[in-house]
Amino acid sequence: MTAHQATAYAPADSMPEHFDVLIVGAGISGVGAAYHLQQQCPDKSFVILETLEDFGGTWLTHKYPGIRSDSDLFTFGYRFKPWTGPPIATAEEILTYMNEVIEENEIDQHIRYQHHIERASFSRDDNLWTIEGRRNDTGEPVYFTANFLWMCQGYYKHAEGYTPEWEGMEDFEGQIVHPQTWPEDLDYKGKRVVVIGSGATAATVIPAMAADCEHITMLQRSPTYFIPGRNENELAEQLREIEVDEAWIHEITRKKILHDQKLVTDASFKQPDDLKKLLIESVRQLLPDDYDVEKHFTPSYRPWQQRIAFVPDGDIFAGITAGKASVVTDHIDHFTKRGIRLKSGEELDADIIITATGFNLSVLGDIDFSVDGEHVDFADTITYRGMMFTGVPNMLWIFGYFRASWTLRVDLLGDFVCRLLQHMDEKGAQRVEPVLRKEDEGLEPLPWMADDNFNPNYLQRSMHLLPKRLDKPEWQHTQDYWVEKDEIPAIDLDGEEFKYD
Ligand SMILES: Cc1cc2nc3c(=O)[nH]c(=O)nc-3n(C[C@H](O)[C@H](O)[C@H](O)COP(=O)(O)OP(=O)(O)OC[C@H]3O[C@@H](n4cnc5c(N)ncnc54)[C@H](O)[C@@H]3O)c2cc1C
Repeated sequence: MTAHQATAYAPADSMPEHFDVLIVGAGISGVGAAYHLQQQCPDKSFVILETLEDFGGTWLTHKYPGIRSDSDLFTFGYRFKPWTGPPIATAEEILTYMNEVIEENEIDQHIRYQHHIERASFSRDDNLWTIEGRRNDTGEPVYFTANFLWMCQGYYKHAEGYTPEWEGMEDFEGQIVHPQTWPEDLDYKGKRVVVIGSGATAATVIPAMAADCEHITMLQRSPTYFIPGRNENELAEQLREIEVDEAWIHEITRKKILHDQKLVTDASFKQPDDLKKLLIESVRQLLPDDYDVEKHFTPSYRPWQQRIAFVPDGDIFAGITAGKASVVTDHIDHFTKRGIRLKSGEELDADIIITATGFNLSVLGDIDFSVDGEHVDFADTITYRGMMFTGVPNMLWIFGYFRASWTLRVDLLGDFVCRLLQHMDEKGAQRVEPVLRKEDEGLEPLPWMADDNFNPNYLQRSMHLLPKRLDKPEWQHTQDYWVEKDEIPAIDLDGEEFKYD
């Protein structure tokens, strides 16, 4: 670091702390990044900066009843730390697992909590990032410099969820709650509750609350796919019974789950109608004979165009069958004093309305980025494999998978970053950035994700803010773990798409 660098950003009486690698976020991505860095690049100094008061990210932020994963923990867990519980885990179980990773690997000493990052500026003169932020607890400004920035800040705003504006909301005399900002003292015993939404959150919160409410209604505009099943992995149980080592059970069970998931994903593209039928039949079996499955549980889109939630032990369907929960498929016309008036004219009375309507996308932690003094608008950049961005050196973002567990990509990109850092050291390079090759120039920049690939509402709402892709695997996030697991380790770091200095 040059003296100029130290004084350009920091107050006169403080020198920024310097690290080889600066990780933003102590969620499952940031902790995984730290593990890989420590294992594979033990000589690199690093710090994790986290705005919250503890680790966990998503699993710390969300506190609604029943909060749990919707994918299995054999693959949502890291490849290096066996998962020994049932496949679907509660937030608390995930936090316990992460805590073990942190403690076993002494990662805690590298995490600075309550550090909110506001600005990140890269200078090509010094090949250095300067990171500016503020401590949430003291309000004190904080300054760091780093050679490489590893963005593990997730993909949505943690402070508040997305609630659409409906006419008359202010007239409603009950309570409106978003699952992302759940009031710890919310009393729903004996109350009439309406949950707006049909995704994994609604499917979690409804069975968790149903027994205590007078009645709970899932109000959806359109149906979603679910995969009901026992919260148990038969293969893992069998291996455990014959006393196979947990590390082996983890590896074998992951392989089997990933193999089966590939079959389902392939079928979603190649035989979508057959898969659709299969999914809907598995739901029909859990509902009363005369239940209108066509209306309430038959989506109009191809399976896997949006996330499919696993429903452990079919619990939401048990609530419907028992009469404690019901589903209404309709459109909201407006809110009234007593509840919601639907377009059909029906009125739903409610004491509490839960808006399980999703979240707001955050592009790179809403941090103000600049390179050589120029503000970076990520919508003007092109992504290299959904992880690096043209014009932005020495930086990588972990954006995981949606059709497979997010964490699979944490491990894959962990290896990639470490290989890249080692390669830079071998070359004596201090800067790396992705650049379009001759053959890529002139290709039309397209939105981050193709509509027919994956199209949840939060992506649709914010696509204009995200980096662009090109119609080539190198220049997009394909969301295809089964291809990337072989392609990413084989990336030629001396390929023309990397420019070093
Ligand atoms: C309710 C819910 C359930 C989910 N279930 C699954 C599942 O079962 N399987 C699956 O694969 N995926 C699931 N997902 C997607 C999930 O978010 C990811 O799988 C994963 O947890 C994301 O981890 P992350 O560490 O990348 O990001 P996050 O968990 O979002 O963590 C990012 C961290 O970065 C911090 N941060 C952000 N901006 C800043 C800043 N400017 N300065 C400092 N710190 C910052 C945040 O405070 C946070 O702690 C779920 C998402 C939600 C919302």
